[in-house]
Amino acid sequence: MAHEHDHTEFQADTEGPELTETQLREIAMRELLIEKGVLTAEQIRVQVEAWEQKTPALGGKIIARAWEEPEFKKRLLEDGTAAVAEYDVGMGDLELKVIENTPEVHNVVVCTLCSCYPRTILGLPPAWYKSFNYRRRVVREPRKVLAEFGTKLSDDIEVRVHDSTADLRFLILPLRPEGTEGMRQEELADLVNRDSMIGVSLPRKPS
Ligand code: FE
Repeated sequence: MAHEHDHTEFQADTEGPELTETQLREIAMRELLIEKGVLTAEQIRVQVEAWEQKTPALGGKIIARAWEEPEFKKRLLEDGTAAVAEYDVGMGDLELKVIENTPEVHNVVVCTLCSCYPRTILGLPPAWYKSFNYRRRVVREPRKVLAEFGTKLSDDIEVRVHDSTADLRFLILPLRPEGTEGMRQEELADLVNRDSMIGVSLPRKPS
């Protein structure tokens, strides 16, 4: 039977039985922490479960608020780290930079080195985000990669790619879709899909 893939081809290289160096390091570190009595296996399990249950919902809330409240948007763009602090999501030592899409410039995020991602706001990154294929290609041919995600931008829109680092995470503030005037913030937040905050897609249009 044919093996079914979803529309991205980026997932392929994250599959497979071999452990990566990072995975091996994680296992070694975890076993050491348990052996030394620093953490229990149960504590680690609970934390991993908590991480896996995080969703991009908070991101949608933040974006919808920025669309509705100019004063919040200004603060968000000036100092993302400080603006999201009131949502009780510790960024730790990380800096959050929010980048606004405009009718002239579309922005997209990658971590070319590994998989840096604003996890406290968007949850765990999708498999394709971590794939070598995405990381390499979106830098070289962003327009083509975006088209493969179904995001076709007209030629007069400039595409900028932003490379995350261990200390700096990006969140895209997408353009507010047309026809959303008068919608409540909760309704707006529902239009903000995860991928639009990474920049590979646009928010949903109101139905
Ligand atoms: Fe990274």
